[in-house]
Amino acid sequence: MQTINERFRGCLIGGAIGDALGWPVEFLRLDEIKRKYGTQGITNLVKGRSNLVEITDDTQMTIFTAEGLLRAENRGRNKGIAHIPSVVHRSYLRWLNTQGVGNDVEKDGWIHSIKALHTRRAPGNTCLDALISGRMGTMEEPLNNSKGCGGVMRTAPIGLVFKKEEAFKLGCESAAITHGHPSGYLSAGALSYIIAAIIEGINLEIAVEQALEECKKYPSNQECSTLIEKAITLVKSDKPVIQAIESLGEGWVGEEALAISIYSALKYQDDFEKAVFTAVNHNGDSDSTGAITGNILGAYLGINGIPQNWVSDVELSKELSQLADDLVKTYEDSEEWHQKYPGW
Ligand SMILES: [Mg+2]
Repeated sequence: MQTINERFRGCLIGGAIGDALGWPVEFLRLDEIKRKYGTQGITNLVKGRSNLVEITDDTQMTIFTAEGLLRAENRGRNKGIAHIPSVVHRSYLRWLNTQGVGNDVEKDGWIHSIKALHTRRAPGNTCLDALISGRMGTMEEPLNNSKGCGGVMRTAPIGLVFKKEEAFKLGCESAAITHGHPSGYLSAGALSYIIAAIIEGINLEIAVEQALEECKKYPSNQECSTLIEKAITLVKSDKPVIQAIESLGEGWVGEEALAISIYSALKYQDDFEKAVFTAVNHNGDSDSTGAITGNILGAYLGINGIPQNWVSDVELSKELSQLADDLVKTYEDSEEWHQKYPGW
């Protein structure tokens, strides 16, 4: 049985590892991956140009989601009120600033001071454009009709902090800041719910089935619900893994990224390595499906269920570990904490 700190660390660092494993093959078709890395595909972390095992925008934005939650908690306690999605939006504006886009958001706090985050790792255009617009999208007033996976890839921390139903809603709201299509934000809500259920100690199949039921309560859920259902069915079938993943799509859009990740995590739920290999060796958006699968199984198996050399090699491992421990605390009334996560 994992401790809560082990699960939180597993979720954040597991996601970073899936992201880092997947990005070298993000834009390669499966046959190209095999030509380059051998018949098994990519099976180990590869160093990037910086000589680090690099994370990408998926992990960067996940970190800023976590920051937003901690700042909102601080604000709520000290000002008596905090609209969480608005605080998360400002954290995303801080991320935008790390991507070289000047803006007037407060540049305080610990996360923005981490130099390694100030680098572009193929950020998604929808996220950039939506944040540059200065407007904040909501489910009721969508900013666009995008269902790219830029929403779901960043919402795992919400499930670490909030209970299931609330996590679903807040996952949707946080994704809708930049992604206005229902499948773009419902997939994010479902991921947040699955993580929350895992943290409650619920078995992985049941966590996914419950997330599906919650998804069905939302308007325009058919596309997302159908694909979650299909992933569950495929796990129980004897369809070969590669074909199963191909039948779910390529993961560039939210519901496909979620479904491929659910399939990979459920199929190899006792084996973190196999699950993330499965999640990245395909034609599609490998870093995002790797990241989401890593979030889910990392939370499920805990940090000790992940190969130790991967944990120590991945970029920002120490910072992610610290952030995970801070998410366990949620709040601390100390000067240091107020500096780290100002409640503006
Ligand atoms: Mg990426």
